[in-house]
Amino acid sequence: MNNIYGLSNIEIENWKKKSDQIIIPIGSLEQHGPHLPVSTDTIIIEYLAKKIAEKIQSLYIPPITFGISFEHEPLFNISLSNNTFSNLISDICVSLAKYGMNNIILLNGHHGNMGSMYYISQNISRKVPSNIRLNFINYWNLMNDFDHAGEIETSLLLAINTKMVKMRIARANTKEIGGSKVAYKSLASIPGSFPKITGNGVWGDPTKASIKKGRSLLDDLIQKLEQTLIEFREFSS
Ligand SMILES: [Zn+2]
Repeated sequence: MNNIYGLSNIEIENWKKKSDQIIIPIGSLEQHGPHLPVSTDTIIIEYLAKKIAEKIQSLYIPPITFGISFEHEPLFNISLSNNTFSNLISDICVSLAKYGMNNIILLNGHHGNMGSMYYISQNISRKVPSNIRLNFINYWNLMNDFDHAGEIETSLLLAINTKMVKMRIARANTKEIGGSKVAYKSLASIPGSFPKITGNGVWGDPTKASIKKGRSLLDDLIQKLEQTLIEFREFSS
């Protein structure tokens, strides 16, 4: 077992003798259209953390369920302020570093968390020994394309847990989304902007999603994640 949640102190000590690497999966709780659960980002990121931890023989902690999702107002979201979020992640990193986990990977599953996450390493730099290696990955950066509750994200969830997806009521964005994706992403980071731009809180067309597409995306992601973690190790050694 790689999730510290179910391990005893002595079991974690034994792990530490083999590896000082630990993964922190970070998700969100926010609307994902009518057909996906609000925990979608958290489910995907925990799944990836589990798979990659098993593959590279690393520990991971239970996912951080709360993120920064103000862009989804007035639809459902639980959002932490930038300071609370940053302090939460920083305190977890400091605890793990003090315990001797020298190689910490922050695995991010939600776009809105990104800005705050860039500063975690600066926040903790004076509180942890200088040999701590902290690396940060947005998992969608390893993919060619991405959406919100559309074909891609819905396919990922179908492949992870089919029962959590209500395909019968899945609908594409109800407002036409024009312009470049760069402009769109910038707008989508403004509080309350997501429902205004998309109409129904969906970016993309989930009716095109399938388990098969999801499996293939997940296989590719796990392979690229492994490669990235190897590069982190080589880069910082
Ligand atoms: Zn999402």
